[in-house]
Amino acid sequence: MLGRLTRWLRILGCDVKYSNELNDAALIATAKREKRTLLTKDFELYRQAASKGTEAFYVQASTAEGKLAEVAKRFNIELTVNMSVSRCPKCNSRVRPVSKDKVTDRVGEGTFTHYEDFWQCRKCGQVYWQGAHWKGIREKLEKTKMMLETMREESAEDQSSSPQKTRKLEKKRAR
Ligand SMILES: [Zn+2]
Repeated sequence: MLGRLTRWLRILGCDVKYSNELNDAALIATAKREKRTLLTKDFELYRQAASKGTEAFYVQASTAEGKLAEVAKRFNIELTVNMSVSRCPKCNSRVRPVSKDKVTDRVGEGTFTHYEDFWQCRKCGQVYWQGAHWKGIREKLEKTKMMLETMREESAEDQSSSPQKTRKLEKKRAR
């Protein structure tokens, strides 16, 4: 299940559809029709999609940060929240700034007193603000950025030419 990954990607501004109801054939057909990349943890589904010419990505990591780092690496997604492109984690619609007086009855009194900036989903009406949970979001993204760096370094090492590796071995032997 990639529900959490979906929510993260939407917050970062990616247009992500999610379904745990469609069967494999319908998922593949939808991705192809809508020119989407199918993200899945199901290797068989990934293989099937690829064989049918549908763009697909096989998510392997088990942690939320790991999954996000893998996807960010593959699709060059910037791991910074930009509210001007951010999407509603619940329904995937774009959010827009909303004036404080419009959210009076939508948020608690404490929130209303402490925060000035609010955003609202254009579709479902959910109100967002950068409250106490925001620290957690930033920390998660920082952790993900570090994982991404490690992944990039590892793949750079994999791609480095073998003569260098041989040289390293020779150096060790010479000592
Ligand atoms: Zn929404």
